[in-house]
Amino acid sequence: MKQYNVIIIGGGAAGFFAAINIAELNPDLKIAILEKGKEGLQKVKVSGGGRCNVTHAQFIPKELTLNYPRGERELLGPFHQFMTGDTIEWFEKRGVELKIEEDGRMFPVTNSSQTIIDCFLSETIRLGVEILYGQTLKSIQVADSNWELETQGDAFLAEKVLVATGSNVKVWKMLEDLNHSIAEPVPSLFTFNVSDRRIKGIPGVVAQNVEIKVLKTNLVSEGPLLVTHVGFSAPAILKLSAFGALELAEMDYKFQIEINFIRHSFNTCLEQLKELKNDLAKKTVIKFTQFDLPKRLWQKLVLASNINEDIKWAEINKLQLDALSAQLTKAVFEVNGKSTFKEEFVTAGGVNLKEVNFKTFESKLHKNLYFAGEVLNIDAITGGFNFQNAWTGSFIAAQNMSK
Ligand SMILES: Cc1cc2nc3c(=O)[nH]c(=O)nc-3n(C[C@H](O)[C@H](O)[C@H](O)COP(=O)(O)OP(=O)(O)OC[C@H]3O[C@@H](n4cnc5c(N)ncnc54)[C@H](O)[C@@H]3O)c2cc1C
Repeated sequence: MKQYNVIIIGGGAAGFFAAINIAELNPDLKIAILEKGKEGLQKVKVSGGGRCNVTHAQFIPKELTLNYPRGERELLGPFHQFMTGDTIEWFEKRGVELKIEEDGRMFPVTNSSQTIIDCFLSETIRLGVEILYGQTLKSIQVADSNWELETQGDAFLAEKVLVATGSNVKVWKMLEDLNHSIAEPVPSLFTFNVSDRRIKGIPGVVAQNVEIKVLKTNLVSEGPLLVTHVGFSAPAILKLSAFGALELAEMDYKFQIEINFIRHSFNTCLEQLKELKNDLAKKTVIKFTQFDLPKRLWQKLVLASNINEDIKWAEINKLQLDALSAQLTKAVFEVNGKSTFKEEFVTAGGVNLKEVNFKTFESKLHKNLYFAGEVLNIDAITGGFNFQNAWTGSFIAAQNMSK
């Protein structure tokens, strides 16, 4: 049986980050990563559309926590120890410069996730961390003061273990056998499938600032909205998918949303439409976009209000004005299913946060058993926050595991 001081299960973002930090803090430790794949860091590779959205330019711990539908309360303390600014410095010290994009997302200046992978791989070599590929954890149990780990072909003993296996159902089952409870996994960060004549044939159209409510729930979000080939995407939708991950799963992804495309009330909008009726009396309604909406969306909403292509503002009747105001401020769409958001998706669910000490990321049930990353019931909206959770948890676990 191979004996190590520290074994990290899972060679993803959290696993590599932890291994490097532990090895640096205590070079005397014998450390191994057990990774089931032939290569590690596969999610890092595809992340952020191949560019790896490493973190987010949000530097106030309390504000940063607001991006985590699950984990908000628990991450506040940890973010005071290690957060976005520390992530930037950590990578900079190792020759990886990050840049901030307009929306706050941060990427390597190279625009390539390979830069992050190369950094992690060269650091593990420099620090003598063993990476054992093709090792799938099959069982984990306490043996005296050690942890005994079995993979398909090998057995290992370790004084301390970090579980960093992401959203792996089999590992969650093994943790249940160790008496941990697991919040049921459901997808987060997905787009909404909507088939509706008002958005048919206009993929790519973006309304810059909408408000969306999921009817019969308290879920509300705001921000940009993108029309896709199969429905809606962009931050306003992704936020709903994250904060509503559990509720929307319960509804089997069939529900209604109400969109306010212009963020005015129905009545305010109606008053403005009446003014337009006077001011633009001789102009054709459909031809001149109002409220800064994209032209093709304006046209669709006008037609959906029973205002045909030739009607001039002067000719619109009260019913049509009401209908247009309703389309602009409270348009209801049927959502029927979800699709994968290619840039980033995560799983809500994982190890129950009540069973983890967030000062150390150690299990409250078992000494010398630690967790970091997506294995925990923590997830965030899109924007680099999911990786930040992995970096923070791993960094703090490393402080304790290296002792
Ligand atoms: C397409 C996509 C794009 C994304 N883009 C971004 C982004 O740009 N920014 C962002 O912040 N987040 C992004 N995310 C989310 C982010 O990738 C995850 O939150 C993050 O990778 C979690 O890190 P982790 O180390 O906990 O898990 P993972 O990265 O999933 O790593 C877990 C590792 O454990 C291994 N493993 C699993 N089971 C076993 C076992 N039994 N034995 C041994 N090894 C095992 C797996 O093979 C894997 O290598 C993206 C996710 C996806 C799917």
